[in-house]
Amino acid sequence: MTDLPRIPLAGVIGHPIAHSRSPQLHGHWLSRYGIKGHYIPMDVAADDLPAALAMLPKLGFVGVNVTIPHKTSVLKLAEVVTDRAALIGAANTLTFRKDGKIHADNTDGVGFMANLRQLAPHWQAAQGPAAVFGAGGAARAVIAALIESGTPEIRIANRTRQRAEGLQADFGGRLVVYDWLHAGDMLEGAALVINATSLGMSGKPDLRLPLDLLKAGTIATDLVYTPLITPFLTDAQSRGAHIVDGLGMLLHQAAPGFERWFGQRPQVDDNTRAAVLGI
Ligand code: NAP
Repeated sequence: MTDLPRIPLAGVIGHPIAHSRSPQLHGHWLSRYGIKGHYIPMDVAADDLPAALAMLPKLGFVGVNVTIPHKTSVLKLAEVVTDRAALIGAANTLTFRKDGKIHADNTDGVGFMANLRQLAPHWQAAQGPAAVFGAGGAARAVIAALIESGTPEIRIANRTRQRAEGLQADFGGRLVVYDWLHAGDMLEGAALVINATSLGMSGKPDLRLPLDLLKAGTIATDLVYTPLITPFLTDAQSRGAHIVDGLGMLLHQAAPGFERWFGQRPQVDDNTRAAVLGI
């Protein structure tokens, strides 16, 4: 009997998982590069997570993306955790290493930064403060990336102020916490404004904050990408801001995992966007 090479499998685990666009994205890259491999969405309940992670490598999986609600709990199940995943307190990319160890990484921050650099290439961290709405898992990743990029001041406001203060305690002095009721004040002199809440997503209320202090030319970006152009981005654009939608972050955060698992650095371009948008 001939020993056929094993076809690499990867996927995404979450609960629920039907909404995930990752299968379309990885499926597009697999066919674009002619790679024999598969990427599968898997609905895994929290109680089943340890057993699923123990079994997947035995079934031929080389790694998985991780989404809500497992991003934090997978850290305890991984033997090797990158510094950035540890700092953020969550992982979105697991690699099943040949030595049997699970390697956990968080690529949301690099995805955010790569999207910004692609769609707002004139942005430079030293230009001025960044203002961040939200203090959840995605905000943590964005803030870690902003700090690494050298952003001089990061202003943050969150509905639950305590959570923003928790970020300040973890990330240090460059963070300034604003009250949610005065979140619009953060825009004064800001070079970059980021919605990292889930507000504005289809089915959720809009992010309703006064953008009066937003100056023309400021970069405004939203992590929400359904819809692609959120009401926040529409409002910011009407005030002369340069807007960057959140889809590119999703695409760029996926690239390191694809490269690790399938051995090819994938391109993020208009074709990739179209494939994920189904157009
Ligand atoms: P999360 O940890 O659940 O945090 C949600 C954030 O939204 C918190 O700051 C929360 O404030 C705020 N929020 C929710 N409902 C609110 C309301 N009614 N009023 C005011 N604030 C509200 O979620 P996450 O993982 O950080 O994700 C946040 C968003 O980013 C989601 O829409 C997610 O899809 C998106 N995301 C996009 C990408 C991408 O690649 N583009 C990557 C990651 C995440 P409290 O703390 O007060 O609850």
